[in-house]
Amino acid sequence: MNRAEDLAALRGGGPWDVLVVGGGIAGAGVALEAARTGAKVVLVEARDFAGGTSSRSSKLVHGGLRYLGQGRIGLTRESLHERDALLAQAGGLVRPLRFVLPVRQGAKPGRRKLALGLGLYDALAGRRTRCWHDAAGVLGQAPGLDSHELIGGWSYLDAQADDARLVLRVLSEARSLGALVLNHVRVDTLLCADQPSASGSIVQGARLVDTVTGEGFDLRARCVVNATGVWADVLRTSLGHAPMLRPLRGSHLLLPDWRLPLSQAVGLCHPLDQRPVFALPWEGATLVGTTDLDHRDDLAHEPGITRAELDYLLQALRHAFPALALSEADVRSTWSGVRPVVSSGRGVDPSSEPREHLVLDEQGLITVTGGKLTTFRSTARQALRCAARHVPALAGANENGAIFAPPAVASAALNTLAPALRDRWIARFGDDASALLQTAQPDELQTIANTGIAWAELRWACRYEAVVHLDDLLLRRTRLGLLLRDGGAELAPRLQPLVQQELHWSNDEWQREWTRYQALIARCYALPPKVADFITDPGKPA
Ligand SMILES: Cc1cc2nc3c(=O)[nH]c(=O)nc-3n(C[C@H](O)[C@H](O)[C@H](O)COP(=O)(O)OP(=O)(O)OC[C@H]3O[C@@H](n4cnc5c(N)ncnc54)[C@H](O)[C@@H]3O)c2cc1C
Repeated sequence: MNRAEDLAALRGGGPWDVLVVGGGIAGAGVALEAARTGAKVVLVEARDFAGGTSSRSSKLVHGGLRYLGQGRIGLTRESLHERDALLAQAGGLVRPLRFVLPVRQGAKPGRRKLALGLGLYDALAGRRTRCWHDAAGVLGQAPGLDSHELIGGWSYLDAQADDARLVLRVLSEARSLGALVLNHVRVDTLLCADQPSASGSIVQGARLVDTVTGEGFDLRARCVVNATGVWADVLRTSLGHAPMLRPLRGSHLLLPDWRLPLSQAVGLCHPLDQRPVFALPWEGATLVGTTDLDHRDDLAHEPGITRAELDYLLQALRHAFPALALSEADVRSTWSGVRPVVSSGRGVDPSSEPREHLVLDEQGLITVTGGKLTTFRSTARQALRCAARHVPALAGANENGAIFAPPAVASAALNTLAPALRDRWIARFGDDASALLQTAQPDELQTIANTGIAWAELRWACRYEAVVHLDDLLLRRTRLGLLLRDGGAELAPRLQPLVQQELHWSNDEWQREWTRYQALIARCYALPPKVADFITDPGKPA
């Protein structure tokens, strides 16, 4: 990607059929499905691609057993269908993940109730994955799990992904179909025109601002899709509509796998409020989540975990794995995401709010929000059916087509790589894996300690993946900032020359970016400061 060329195309490339606002999974999905119809599509993202909630999820591609428990059968069925499509078409990037649910004597839900729920889950997916394990079998999969009154556990199959890379993969597919996608370009205001035949005005484009240079310009489009996630109310309310989102924060911990070694995910019940909490293997580490509470902070600031949330998650771990004596010293990184949940308006407990997505047409502004990572394709298609009122060609969205084009046959040169690296590259970079290999310098095929990430991926990302700031590179193109302590500060000596060479940064620019990155890590991805926190129960609204 060449930013200068893309900006020139953005300014001079109209008229556009669709302007997608927001480069998270929802916007990426809409851009891909719209491009597939042959429409002229542009997507702008104010921060970085996946810079919002789509890089801060629990990274599950799942049907949502919890939603089934809430009676949301339609949502579960749709999610399971999409999960299986992604497993089939994005293998490696989306990978099967088995969950085990320990069952203890006298505890609820018991063996039989879980069997019924999992039976329905499997039936909706159309295949049996559930399996009963005795106590020894469960302990073998989760060493250190409390064996007190453990009678066994059910396991079942779901899937997981690298969420930010999934967004990038969808965007890359959209680009290959002709869509123009730009990060660090913000929609400042919507442009409206009076409609003689309709009451009021209709949205016909937006005033954009390049956040790197501060330059602003107008872009006209026949249809504007508001895929700004938890920020969706900002554009909607600018047209005079009432806000409808209830931002709910969920936070996670990442521990080294040797402190909490799991061969598969474990579902736990929090001792304080019986909310489901999980610990799962991800990228060679162990991910623990999540909380669910009202997020009352300014949405302009990146979210971070509070001390109460940290204590809450550690409490769940210590209760489930008492022998491991886990403490905050074991936490390598943390992150929080804010869910764009459409408020029921009933003021219910956060975990009881419905998680269905919403698609709205308000004066030609198509808002799509509240969806899951898993269901991005079906959500995008629904948004396009709505947008087809303004751009009829969008009605041609292929309801049965594949998510991704089938990959080309992998080049034989890739077989020279270690099998794990080869598979990783094919999964993440698809047809670009061979070009990535050609870009790599001889010593860049080695992986960075405690990660599966090769140095070559950093060079490739700087050169071809629209990296503007250091956090784009370390938190989303790669996940080094999550996988390594202090955001990967130890990498600086080798990282600096590579980044300066590829991005043409002076020493001052590097220093500015490094300082900014470290401040971001300290604020939003590390342990929270040890100050009194007045939220006592993170499961309840603050
Ligand atoms: C804690 C947590 C865990 C989750 N776990 C899972 C999970 O395991 N599996 C699952 O399927 N789902 C999960 N979800 C749900 C899922 O992650 C989100 O619903 C999804 O990522 C939302 O995507 P989005 O594109 O709507 O929003 P976002 O990813 O937030 O994207 C919106 C984008 O719009 C941009 N934007 C905002 N304003 C503007 C503007 N004016 N101009 C241009 N761009 C703008 C933002 O910068 C942002 O990047 C989880 C959510 C949370 C909070």
